[in-house]
Amino acid sequence: MKYAHHFLDGGPCGLPAGKIVCVGRNYAAHARELGNEVPEAPILFLKPSTAMVPLAEVFSIPAGRGECHHETEITLLVGKRLHHAGEAECHAGIAGIGLGLDLTLRDLQNELKKKGHPWEVAKAFDGAAPLSGFLRPDGFVLDDIHFSLGVNGEPRQRGHSADMITPILPLLAYISRIFTLEPGDVVMTGTPEGVAALRTGDVLMLEMEGLRVETAVA
Ligand code: ZN
Repeated sequence: MKYAHHFLDGGPCGLPAGKIVCVGRNYAAHARELGNEVPEAPILFLKPSTAMVPLAEVFSIPAGRGECHHETEITLLVGKRLHHAGEAECHAGIAGIGLGLDLTLRDLQNELKKKGHPWEVAKAFDGAAPLSGFLRPDGFVLDDIHFSLGVNGEPRQRGHSADMITPILPLLAYISRIFTLEPGDVVMTGTPEGVAALRTGDVLMLEMEGLRVETAVA
């Protein structure tokens, strides 16, 4: 499905779909549920623009490749180039805030981790990043964003940005020292606990203040 960034208020966007920078284990309770140590520095990985699909339309998960987990995450749309940027510059560089799923082929990821191989095929495949439209960042208190995922009417994941190990602005500043962020890039800020396998036909509800997306696994 063709993906383009858009704002939920219908205003013009015009930012190209760039890369996605993701952070692993940014919530301590999630690191523990997968039996991982809480990292000292953010664990970063990338997804290409071809991973982006619209969350609000039904999306598919790869067949025959083991469990595909949902990871519900706050997403940040980058509006300005950020290279070795300070926190104030990073704040000014956030063009939009939304929600997304960092889809993860968990069985495959576990196998790759065991062998010491890179994760990409488990995390960066086509369609691995269903993204919502974006809200304007003004009015958001970045360290006080609540969000949740329900699956088939049952609560599954509940997150609060105050629980991030590396909060949004220090995270952006850190990323900008390793991967220059460009207009149209997206940062996925990590998932809280409650990740689990998705199945065909699941109905998902993702919510954040000012945003509510119902979608389904095709
Ligand atoms: Zn994730």
